Amino acid sequence: MGKWLKRSWAVIDLDKLLYNLQSIRSMLPATTQILAIVKADAYGHGDTTIAKAYEEAGIRWFGVSNFEEARSLRLEGIRGDILILGGTPIECVKYLSEYRITQAVYSLDYARELEAEAARLQVPLDIHLKLDTGMSRLGLWTREEDPSPVVNEVKQISALSHLHITGAFTHFPCSDENDPDSIAFTRRQIELFSKTCDAIERAGIPLSLRHCCNSGGVLNYPEAAMDMVRPGIILYGLGKEFAFSSEPDLKPVLSLYTTVSLVKDLPAGAYVGYGRTFRATHPMRVATVSIGYADGYHRALSNRGKMILHGKLVPVIGRVCMDQLMLDVTDVEDVRLGDVVTVVGEENGLRITYDDLASLSGTVAYESLCNLNKRIPRLYQRNGAIVSVVENVHQPIL
Ligand SMILES: *Cc1c(COP(=O)(O)O)cnc(C)c1O
Repeated sequence: MGKWLKRSWAVIDLDKLLYNLQSIRSMLPATTQILAIVKADAYGHGDTTIAKAYEEAGIRWFGVSNFEEARSLRLEGIRGDILILGGTPIECVKYLSEYRITQAVYSLDYARELEAEAARLQVPLDIHLKLDTGMSRLGLWTREEDPSPVVNEVKQISALSHLHITGAFTHFPCSDENDPDSIAFTRRQIELFSKTCDAIERAGIPLSLRHCCNSGGVLNYPEAAMDMVRPGIILYGLGKEFAFSSEPDLKPVLSLYTTVSLVKDLPAGAYVGYGRTFRATHPMRVATVSIGYADGYHRALSNRGKMILHGKLVPVIGRVCMDQLMLDVTDVEDVRLGDVVTVVGEENGLRITYDDLASLSGTVAYESLCNLNKRIPRLYQRNGAIVSVVENVHQPIL
């Protein structure tokens, strides 16, 4: 990456992505498939490139949040099965069928609406049943005391002739939490899901693929791997701290860089940035860099964040602006216009992760990653070399 050609950019290391996949595979029984969660543009990493790399590595299932994401993967040439985890408008049934996309079905009403449209168009539709075992988001409500109400609902769904049930799943709200109550809750969910699926199959409805594990599930409940697992965050090398019953070997896939646009010496008493929240107590050297909250560097990191410049940690001073921010570089030698600054990544044995940034800004790595703006170009790396660049501009200059 040449200096000055970009103000800020992300490097996405596909070798690390595949390394994580290998680590995750090694934690699973050989018969368990992986459905790679690539929703929200693969947690900001770029869903097309990530899904293609996974497809090459043998992944056959992908999970997305909505119809647009599913359609885009299909149009980009992904051939594997795609599961939409959320609701799809009934008007899209035609395309669900045409693009061979599997839809989550989480209520009898929704199933009936899908059926009516599929019948009108005379098209078949693959579905996975979503069972609610305690998250209270989407799903057919299940009960410990009595599986018959949900079995009855599933019987009615299975009688809808255009819908084909090819799987069933549930979701964990606290599989990443280590306290005894959360562990008991998740164990109860696993048991409830298994019992409900057994009852459905006893009623003569086969559920080919059962799946319940998100990243927390993969890390902490290997006994619940079943036919398939749905990891997201761990594919991208984060969430290691969720593990309490395994020691996963994961590498963060995405690094983020910015550049110095100005270096200046400030006298004692000078203020820095909006609101004058920082004041120099002694003469200091300050670098202005080209990244701000519009790029996804949270404003909550004002006067709190740190970056790495010339192998040293440098603090963010003053408020994070929309497109820029200031760093205290008093202790760093030879800082110049165009110097590259590591915002997230490793340099000289120092490391800043999205988990670090998220905890400093009062959120989770998921949200920080999703906030990485489209205007940050994504550079894909393999064997140490950049192999492709994705930019959201009309005429890239590089
Ligand atoms: C997002 C999501 C996942 C993946 O979650 P991670 O915590 O990133 O592993 C799995 N299943 C469902 C239903 C989801 O919505």
